Amino acid sequence: MTSNKDINLNSGKCPSCGSTGLKSFYKVDSVPVHSCVLKDSQAEALGFPEGSIDLGFCPACGFITNMAYDIKHRDYSTGYEDQQSFSSTFNAFARGLAEKWVKKYELRDKKIIEIGCGKGDFLRLICEIGDNHCIGIDPAFVEDRVESAENIVFIKDYYSEKYSYLKGDMICCRHTLEHIDRTAEFIRTIRKSIGDKTDTLVFFEIPDAMRVLKEQAFWDIYYEHCSYFTPESLGRLFRAEGFEILDLYTEFDDQYLIIETKASPEPVDKPHPAEEPSSETEKQVLKFEEDIKSRLDYWRGFFNTAFGQGKKIAIWGSGSKCVAFMTTLGLKDQVGAIVDINPHRHAKFIPSVGKEIVDPQMLKDYHPDIVVIMNPIYRNEIAGDLKAMGLDPELTAV
Ligand SMILES: [Zn+2]
Repeated sequence: MTSNKDINLNSGKCPSCGSTGLKSFYKVDSVPVHSCVLKDSQAEALGFPEGSIDLGFCPACGFITNMAYDIKHRDYSTGYEDQQSFSSTFNAFARGLAEKWVKKYELRDKKIIEIGCGKGDFLRLICEIGDNHCIGIDPAFVEDRVESAENIVFIKDYYSEKYSYLKGDMICCRHTLEHIDRTAEFIRTIRKSIGDKTDTLVFFEIPDAMRVLKEQAFWDIYYEHCSYFTPESLGRLFRAEGFEILDLYTEFDDQYLIIETKASPEPVDKPHPAEEPSSETEKQVLKFEEDIKSRLDYWRGFFNTAFGQGKKIAIWGSGSKCVAFMTTLGLKDQVGAIVDINPHRHAKFIPSVGKEIVDPQMLKDYHPDIVVIMNPIYRNEIAGDLKAMGLDPELTAV
């Protein structure tokens, strides 16, 4: 494993375009270095290693990086619980995307590689829908979490140059690039593995940082996400590393950014129409810097007031958003219950926060006055679940 000292704190060099002059615009201290690693006891959770966030913006390419990120904390091999396929809303999205890609790019009977396949849910879908042959690579892969299938092979490891022998008709990588600090190096490794097989399709999906900036969505900024892309910075990176952009768009209520590319014999100069000018990202960065304090004050006030009035508050969704939300705001006693539909999270404790995650059914006993939803896209699904339990609390989404 390599050190990232030369690109972050020390030189202030942009890991995506190599320019110097990153501008710091948002800092949070004492955040857990992992928000999806759950602990079995409160003591372990409270003693979880912490780090800092210091977001730096690159005026040259629009990329945003956590300049305080230290790769020594990277470990997705044990207890990393990020599976989202317990939600019908998320499943419908994943299936729709797999169906779209199969149809749009005639991905039938093809060889597909997924880098960062997690527990393999998406790979399985695209494999079934197009009758494809698939290879998934992920250090957090857990064998018994997906049904085995003849045409899927899983490799439990980080993707690196040693896997360049793996050749596919399509390489996809979903929700992984934001966890990688040396972004250009990573994309370059993939491009090198493709060589002159320039009909290889390469698709990436990541959170859209433009939305995070515009909504001041501080709950989407956490330690293991060291890299933040807007359409502009993502497009630039892929073009610079030898990919032609076929499509670039947002999905999942504009929360996710998807880039569909094809390897190109040389770097591509012409921007894709969806790449907004870098001045737009800079404008939003400045606005974020200006408005974030009042945004944080609003939420602290919301919880403190409700708590002061004796109201019972529950948070629905215990993943990274919840961890970032609670640690950034410094919430503890104000939140009486944290629930999640993922059964693998129940009876586990949230890093740094030290609170236990429980089954949503427990809300029948707790009778919350307010339920705060960590992702508005699940609002209808959650409202339905609460109604089925005979509960009618005030619902607030971040
Ligand atoms: Zn840059």
